[in-house]
Amino acid sequence: MTTPALMGTYARTDIAFDHGEGAWLTSTDGRRFLDFGAGIAVNALGHAHPRLVSVLREQAGKLWHTSNLYRVPGQERVAERLVAHSFADAVFFCSTGLEANEAALKLARKVAHEEGQGDRVRFIVTDGAFHGRSFATMAATGNPKHMAGYGPMMDGFDRVPFGDLDATRAAVTDQTCAVMIEPVQGEGGIRTAPQGYLAGLRALCDEHGLLLILDEVQTGIGRTGSLFAHEQAGISPDIVTVAKGLGGGFPVGALLTTARWAGAFTPGSHGTTFGGNPLAMAVAEAVLDEVLAPGFLERVDRVGAELGEALRRVAADAPGVIAEVRGCGLMWGLVCRVPNGDLIAACRDQGLLLVPASDNVARLLPPLIIDTPEVDAAGAMLRAACGELTA
Ligand SMILES: *Cc1c(COP(=O)(O)O)cnc(C)c1O
Repeated sequence: MTTPALMGTYARTDIAFDHGEGAWLTSTDGRRFLDFGAGIAVNALGHAHPRLVSVLREQAGKLWHTSNLYRVPGQERVAERLVAHSFADAVFFCSTGLEANEAALKLARKVAHEEGQGDRVRFIVTDGAFHGRSFATMAATGNPKHMAGYGPMMDGFDRVPFGDLDATRAAVTDQTCAVMIEPVQGEGGIRTAPQGYLAGLRALCDEHGLLLILDEVQTGIGRTGSLFAHEQAGISPDIVTVAKGLGGGFPVGALLTTARWAGAFTPGSHGTTFGGNPLAMAVAEAVLDEVLAPGFLERVDRVGAELGEALRRVAADAPGVIAEVRGCGLMWGLVCRVPNGDLIAACRDQGLLLVPASDNVARLLPPLIIDTPEVDAAGAMLRAACGELTA
């Protein structure tokens, strides 16, 4: 199936893909799949998007990498674009989600230090979170399965239940510098923030002088129907991290923050070799052009609602398979009554690719370019898969 030359880090499904087009993938053995995993919420514009292919080709013929020792015009343009369309005033580029979160945690401590409050070193995080696999972000995540065998863990994280404002308030001490949450928990099983949660956290952070860090690595760049998920709560965070959708499949991450905090990162205080290289920036700029084009996010919102309805109809007819449908935008979870892997395998047999998550959830994270025909096709395949499981 695979080779011992490759480390066994993943429980891979025995399929390899040869090429893709839009929301569809073709495997090396010629089968077609409707890709409602999108590389775990990464291929925001689907596969082989003509514009992304063309900007990457063009940049590849000019310049790949120069390092952050020099100005990178693409970084300046993408940063200005992100700033123009968000709460933020400044951006730091990196290559992955965990790197963006690592930068966010470092920035929060640095801000406290600069404000003469160097003993404020602790972060409040939530259960069911996922922030990455580095030592810091693994500790922030707090998943026992991820941490097993890697101790000692980095200290500094105080955990409260997701969605619980009172518990968050109770966890604040004079050592707390920031609260970090995902507006919708992705890996945790598509757990959406309860009404008023983000606004409540904002008020709590203001009251105690804490930074509000939102990990939008999965929810950002249009996934929930707005450029950032937190916009829908009408709040302004202090730090937002993005990655997955930003490069449409090219590795790139970013930290966004306000002018008030951006100055805590000074030359030499943080950095990365690869972050924001010209290839990544060419693609990210094109992704933002598309996602911010008139009508794009409105369609994500409309198609997302259609997908939610379609899923609820299938779930109503297959109560032995699907216990609950939850999500928003193009980020949906099916809480399964059967093992989630069984539903995912049955969907794959029908030609529909989904992604597992905690809480026995099967996730649907289609490319943001889909429309009603893909929703209908996915609904039919899911219905057939449920039929197979109950037969
Ligand atoms: C995927 C993800 C990460 C980690 O991103 P990597 O690029 O794998 O490091 C962090 N936070 C959230 C919310 C994610 O979904």
